[in-house]
Amino acid sequence: MTRKVCSSLVAMVLTVACTRATPEQQIVNDAAAALGGAERVSAVKTLVLEGTGTQYNLGQDLVPGASGQTFTVSAFKRTLDVAGGRARTELTRNPNFTYFQGPAPQQQVAGIDGAVGYNVAANGTATRAAEPLAADRRAELLHHPVTAVRAALDPMAKLSNPRTEGGQSMVDVATPGGQSFTLAIDISTKRPSKVTTRAYNVNLGDVTIGTTFDDYQEVGGLQLPAKLTTATDDFTTQEITLTKQEVDTEASDLAAPEAAAQAPTGPPPAPMVTAEPLARGIWLLAGGSHHSVLVEFADHLTLIEAPLNEARTLAVIAKARELVPGKPLTQVVNSHHHFDHSGGVRAAISEGLTVITHQGNVAFFQEMAKRAHTLQPDALSKSGKAATVQGVDGMLSLSDPTMTVNLIGVSGGHSQSMLVAHFPKERLLVEVDLYTPGGAVQMYAGGLLEELKKHKLAIDRVVPLHGMIAPYAQFVKEASAPVPAS
Ligand SMILES: [Zn+2]
Repeated sequence: MTRKVCSSLVAMVLTVACTRATPEQQIVNDAAAALGGAERVSAVKTLVLEGTGTQYNLGQDLVPGASGQTFTVSAFKRTLDVAGGRARTELTRNPNFTYFQGPAPQQQVAGIDGAVGYNVAANGTATRAAEPLAADRRAELLHHPVTAVRAALDPMAKLSNPRTEGGQSMVDVATPGGQSFTLAIDISTKRPSKVTTRAYNVNLGDVTIGTTFDDYQEVGGLQLPAKLTTATDDFTTQEITLTKQEVDTEASDLAAPEAAAQAPTGPPPAPMVTAEPLARGIWLLAGGSHHSVLVEFADHLTLIEAPLNEARTLAVIAKARELVPGKPLTQVVNSHHHFDHSGGVRAAISEGLTVITHQGNVAFFQEMAKRAHTLQPDALSKSGKAATVQGVDGMLSLSDPTMTVNLIGVSGGHSQSMLVAHFPKERLLVEVDLYTPGGAVQMYAGGLLEELKKHKLAIDRVVPLHGMIAPYAQFVKEASAPVPAS
């Protein structure tokens, strides 16, 4: 075909028809054609997706890796401004398990508007999401065939690494805006089968977030999937079946609420750590949402809990060393595997601490310590240290002539691989998430009370790692109150 003939054809067919497309471009072209054509895909302005589904409890289930705790998503609506890079998801979900906030349905509104990620609480209060979450939501914009193929069709997008695996052709796409993703298409139907992006998770490090597309149907001249399944690595986090899809209808206003857009941005403030003596050789290290406890033995120190993230845990460790400068901090006791209570375990390992946890978490922490953190290198990945993890099966007594603390495995509706710490001489119980003094609902306190009775523990004060210290009598009273029925 001569150049002249080719250029005369441009008006009638796409330029790519005149030259042989590269393998990577061919995958994108095939995907666009299967969805309804490149022109149609590129012309989409808005999508409104409504349906129902299931969410899972990544990092917060009964034991590490479990997926038995689910929420029924009774109403799901996701509105996308395809060209404007804006989206909002509104959903109602109902826990199918003993959830710490009780059985009542939860309403969630989460959005992204360019640089601004935001959440709207049930009472209408809008807050700005931290930047890592906003970045995840910008990536999530690409987790739909229309947005992904549209981004891949951009002449400025860089396509690379075409390959075929497991019945799918895949291509890596780098957008001019700095995002990257992998588009997979079914080799027979050519429809997009999956979009994956990489993300950073404080506990898991580098992860892949993938959304698979099934049950395609015709909507407004496009082929669109009615089933969207999202997973973090191999762990399914959400399954949505759409019952209504609209293309280019009048979408609701997707601008970020003013309160969120005007909220100050920037790095989070340095963690504040306060120290309150509880007894001789025992301090409560509070000052944030998640507390720790420092315990002094004759020749070393033990920390209870490395919560949240590296910044919080390194600040807690620094405070511990400041309080008792003459003794080495050698151990950290982890209460349970939930991500918010184990987010600092890697930082503790980087500081040379041995991790003591329920036996049910040992393999999980050993794996967590080895995972790659290349997207955001943390203290452990920089230190190259290996983890020492000690499991507690039933009970472990840490004791010397000056101090005794008994670590006791408890099993209940919150986590089945959980430890509480009892100081027999000081009559203190350290626990978390099972009883939060003054909380609106106490879903697990009754179960904790039953377990403590079995062990016949002498307790004067309950020291929770969330909230304020409570006398034992207050705990018994709150633990005996009726639990809201589902
Ligand atoms: Zn928990």
